[in-house]
Amino acid sequence: MRITIKVGSNVLTRKDGSLDITRMSALVDQIAELRNQGHEIVLVSSGAVASGRSELKHIHDDLDSVDQRQLFSAVGQAKLMNHYYDLFREYGISVGQVLTMKEHFGDSEHKKNQENCLRVMLNNKVLPIINENDTVSITELMFTDNDELSGLIAQMTESKILIILSNIDGIYTGNPADPESRLISIVKPGKDLSDYIQTTKSSAGRGGMQSKSSVAAKTAAAGISVIIANGKRDNILVNLMNDRDNTPCTEFLI
Ligand code: GLU
Repeated sequence: MRITIKVGSNVLTRKDGSLDITRMSALVDQIAELRNQGHEIVLVSSGAVASGRSELKHIHDDLDSVDQRQLFSAVGQAKLMNHYYDLFREYGISVGQVLTMKEHFGDSEHKKNQENCLRVMLNNKVLPIINENDTVSITELMFTDNDELSGLIAQMTESKILIILSNIDGIYTGNPADPESRLISIVKPGKDLSDYIQTTKSSAGRGGMQSKSSVAAKTAAAGISVIIANGKRDNILVNLMNDRDNTPCTEFLI
């Protein structure tokens, strides 16, 4: 089964903003296991800006937000890929970097080229690791966030499932910090969740639960099941695929 997995910045960074290599390594172990079980994986990974920011701590203050994004992503993306390359290599898995932009998903030659690139990688058992090209996607050229990108990638690669990993178990019936709130495990097609969704966003990434929920609903409507789960939980990916009923998550049915 082909699965697109999106890993958010908050899963990959520690509280102080530095890259959490232990977590990356645990996720790589699980992806390797899923490949061994016969699944084909496409990875959409955030974390470039966060990892660049922690690398260049001393120069935050005098840069505007565009300069920061360009500088941090240029440095951070290289650092992120270096880690993935080394970690996957331990398992003999070849990885390739795909940096993309909104215009590559319109109706154009760009889209065909993008599709072809992903196809040739998958056909040759190279695991695509995809991120937005944050060095040149600025303001209105940007995706809302990598959640939006992961929905488009799942459709482009004709994945069966999209797993969106964040630092929370899924969508709750209220504020997740409130003990009265319950995790919504199943969302049927057409179900309106707007009353439940909190508008607060995670500190490291651009997306929030609102964007995850709307991407999930759209992607499920296109025939791909979507699961939102907590990437900080041990063995989450393997458990989602092998024992979903006993694993906390929100699943959007098709
Ligand atoms: N592409 C950004 C990064 O790698 C993250 C965008 C998002 O937060 O969704 O840092």
